[in-house]
Amino acid sequence: MAARTFSVGVDVDHLKHYYRIHGHDDQSATGAAFAVGVPRFMELFEELGIPATFYCVSEDLQEPGVAARLREAVAAGHEIGNHSWHHRYDLTRLPSEERRAEVQRAREQLEEAAGAPVVGFRAPGYTTSPALLADVAATGHTYDTSVFPCVPYYSAKAAVMGLMALRGRRSQSILGPPAPLLAPRGPYPVDPARPYRRAATGLLEYPISVAGGLPMLGTAFTALGERGALAAVALAWRLLPHVTVEFHAVDLLALADDGLDPALATQPDLKTPVAKKRKIFKKSMGFLAERAEAIRLDALTASLAGD
Ligand SMILES: [Zn+2]
Repeated sequence: MAARTFSVGVDVDHLKHYYRIHGHDDQSATGAAFAVGVPRFMELFEELGIPATFYCVSEDLQEPGVAARLREAVAAGHEIGNHSWHHRYDLTRLPSEERRAEVQRAREQLEEAAGAPVVGFRAPGYTTSPALLADVAATGHTYDTSVFPCVPYYSAKAAVMGLMALRGRRSQSILGPPAPLLAPRGPYPVDPARPYRRAATGLLEYPISVAGGLPMLGTAFTALGERGALAAVALAWRLLPHVTVEFHAVDLLALADDGLDPALATQPDLKTPVAKKRKIFKKSMGFLAERAEAIRLDALTASLAGD
């Protein structure tokens, strides 16, 4: 493994999940995440020379153009990861057979559509459990990247869900136990019985990187602005041997630019113009690309296993 590495993942969450998470009716949700967000990220990654991973929800393969988009991403050197079959926020609470199917069917469907191996899993809403990790390991995956050890995110999520409950709206989001906050900060083999502890061998876990309390997330970069995001990424680069960055395909969409439904203004970063967000992402990811090797998590996992 090279001295310093970083990896970039993009969760391709359909817009309907943003309607649902904010308690809106999802009938006017369009397929813009795949149709517009993914190509914008692919263009950005091409400029920066970054091979990335797109974590996809396999039910979206029913929409026209999605399977072709996956093959296009693979041809451009990107990895396709598993983001489950239906993006159920209550995945860890489903009966075991249903939960297993959410992981297994998605992997099969995505592999078939992409024509490439799918070996990484990211849980919807960062909510994982020993049983879910056991499913991930048992269904042909070599790594998981669902642990998010971030206190500000945890308290912000709790606050938003509390506010929505006060207004009588129900979020589909689930607040997992705070145990992820105790997880190791770097890649580690997970102990299936205690997923936030390091084991000797096993499925590799890549927690989303957090440095100085700041998560390496597209929405956080947008909120921080160009200089703030650059400082956050520089700090992560100084503190962590491997930086795991997470974007969402909608991070490169905007209400005005893309004529999105104004109801989506409840997702605040959608109000920021695409050009501004792109500039922030290009600057901060460019910082990493100049100093470390951009590596896909499937490749990093293979190289760590071979060590
Ligand atoms: Zn998601």
